[in-house]
Amino acid sequence: MKPYKIKKSKIDNRRGLYASKDIREGTKIINYIGKIVTNKQVENSSKYDNDKPIYLFTLNNRYTLDGDFHWNTAGLINHSCDNNCDYDGKGFKVWVSAIRNIKKGEELTCDYGFGFDKDYKQFPCKCRAKNCCGYIVREGSRFRINKKFAMGRNKTNK
Ligand SMILES: [Zn+2]
Repeated sequence: MKPYKIKKSKIDNRRGLYASKDIREGTKIINYIGKIVTNKQVENSSKYDNDKPIYLFTLNNRYTLDGDFHWNTAGLINHSCDNNCDYDGKGFKVWVSAIRNIKKGEELTCDYGFGFDKDYKQFPCKCRAKNCCGYIVREGSRFRINKKFAMGRNKTNK
């Protein structure tokens, strides 16, 4: 039995993956599959212009894994700022592992890990976690957004 099932997501208005049984921390849940392309292709092809960076994994200084395919079930996993899973990989393989114990019925979530740049506003986050910064940005960069948020809020409160 697979440790996950596909269901309509509570986070996004699309599908997501849910734990179909209790999953222990450290468990490898699903492979993230796609096509290997060269970093040069990513740079040069309009297919990789900003709209779908969330499916790209840089494997090394030459190759990228493009997971933007309907048969890549792991691509359905949504981002949360309080994620219970994360991407893991070795060589040309990428997979999703549990980073804490997950209860049956919980939605599986990862940290998409976008860097902080001027385009982050393209990707609002709706995960509703307590620590949600409002945008899909990797954990290490979120404090900068939170600071901006704080500044914005102060302005409107006046
Ligand atoms: Zn969030």
